[in-house]
Parts: sequence; C-alpha cells; structure tokens
Amino acid sequence: MASPLLLILSAPSGAGKTTLARYLLAAEPDARLSVSTTTRAPRGQEVEGRDYHFVGEAEFQRMVEGGEFLEWARVHGFRYGTSRMVVERALREAASLTIFDIDVQGGSAIKSQFPQAVTVFILPPSLAELEARLRGRGTDSEEVIQLRLEAARSEILRGLAEYDYLVVNRVLEEAGADLSAIVRAARCRATYMRDELREAFGASRSSPAPRG
Ligand code: ADP
Ligand code: 5GP
Repeated sequence: MASPLLLILSAPSGAGKTTLARYLLAAEPDARLSVSTTTRAPRGQEVEGRDYHFVGEAEFQRMVEGGEFLEWARVHGFRYGTSRMVVERALREAASLTIFDIDVQGGSAIKSQFPQAVTVFILPPSLAELEARLRGRGTDSEEVIQLRLEAARSEILRGLAEYDYLVVNRVLEEAGADLSAIVRAARCRATYMRDELREAFGASRSSPAPRG
C-alpha cells in the first residue's frame, strides 16, 4: 500500500497558513489535520479539539514530562506541542495525508525524525501585506501584532533555507492550487509508492531492489 504522507505547513503568523490548511482539507477528502496542544487561550471562533487542545501551563508541563509530544516549542510566548500519538497513528495508516500547521522549529524537528515528511513554507507577498493581514484578521492586540512581525523576518529566513517547497500566498486560489500540486507530486515520489508497485509487478518485499 502507498505510504502515509506527512505534510508540514509553516509560515509567519498571518501569512494564511490556517486558511490554506482548510483549503487543502476541503480539496483532499482523506486529509486530516494534526491538532496541536497549546497553552494560549482560544481566540475568535476557535473550538477545543478542532483547532487546538487548550491546556494550562501545569497540564502542558505534565504532558512534556510524560513524553506525550514528538516536538514542542515556545512560540510568541506560549507553548505548542505535536502529539506523538497523532504521528504514530498517521504512520500506521497507508495512503493517509496528515497536515501539520506548526512553526519552523517544529517542522525541522519532525523532518529530522521523519525525513520522508514534506515541508512547505508559506510566504506573504511582502511584510507590509503580512501586517495588513494580521490587522485585518482582527484577533490580536497591537502588542501581539508587533511581536509577530518582529518574529516574521527570522522565520522567513529559516523557512527559505530549510524547507522543501515555498508557496507565496498572493491569491488564495493560486496558492491553494500550488499546495494541491505539491501533494500530488509527493504522491508520485518513488518512496511513496515503490513498495505497492513492486508488489503489483510481482517482486516480493524481500527481493533485492535493482541497482541504479
Ligand atoms: P495564519 O494561520 O498563517 O496565521 P490566517 O490563515 O489566519 O493566517 O490568515 C490571516 C488573515 O489573512 C486572515 O484574515 C485571512 O482571511 C487572510 N488571508 C489569507 N490568505 C489571504 C490571501 N491570499 N489574500 C488576502 N487575505 C488572505
Ligand atoms: P497561533 O497562535 O497563531 O495559532 O500559532 C502560532 C504559531 O505556533 C504558528 O506558527 C503555528 O503554526 C505554531 N504551532 C501550532 N502548533 C504547533 C506545534 O504543535 N508545534 C510547533 N512547534 N508549533 C506550533
């Protein structure tokens, strides 16, 4: 069977990562989102269990000590973690597509543990447009917006250096189509379907792969 696909989406806050993750979830019927745990409070229309698992500092610390996170990071003053169970479940399910909406520290940590993961960095068209989107979203205070803008530059430099694919989110539909194309290309990678095709063409899993 085809391998599971781990798709890591990272971006400076406000670039449109959540919007694009939802676009991909609608376009790919089998896709599911890895729901992270965070110590920040819910904002806007966010729902417990759908957008995040919202916990207090003490509970987060207990989960860290219990080894429940594959990676965790402090982002903009709060802690965010990716559940080890979510990734283990994804890896057991052939042909599944799991989307991780996490920051560059988390993305790089997962990529180093699972090199087959595909990393996509989403960029705003400019820093001025990023600022306009953060303000337009209407969910963050001025102080939070300034913190996020300060962090954006170094996140962008790290994303440009370390990620597999770059998508500039200028027009939403075009950026969404780019993401769908990346998923489609990832599913054509030899590592994604080699085992399935070797079986279909009569080679047993134990027979040696041809050289070259
Ligand atoms: P992130 O998850 O990266 O912090 P969001 O998905 O919340 O960002 O997007 C930030 C704001 O920008 C939202 O108000 C969203 O509707 C808007 N937005 C997203 N993509 C675009 C785009 N291509 N053009 C204009 N506005 C956009
Ligand atoms: P926000 O508060 O805007 O939802 O998220 C802030 C940042 O934390 C975003 O860049 C988001 O992708 C990142 N983030 C969310 N969940 C996780 C996680 O589990 N691990 C890491 N490392 N970052 C996360």
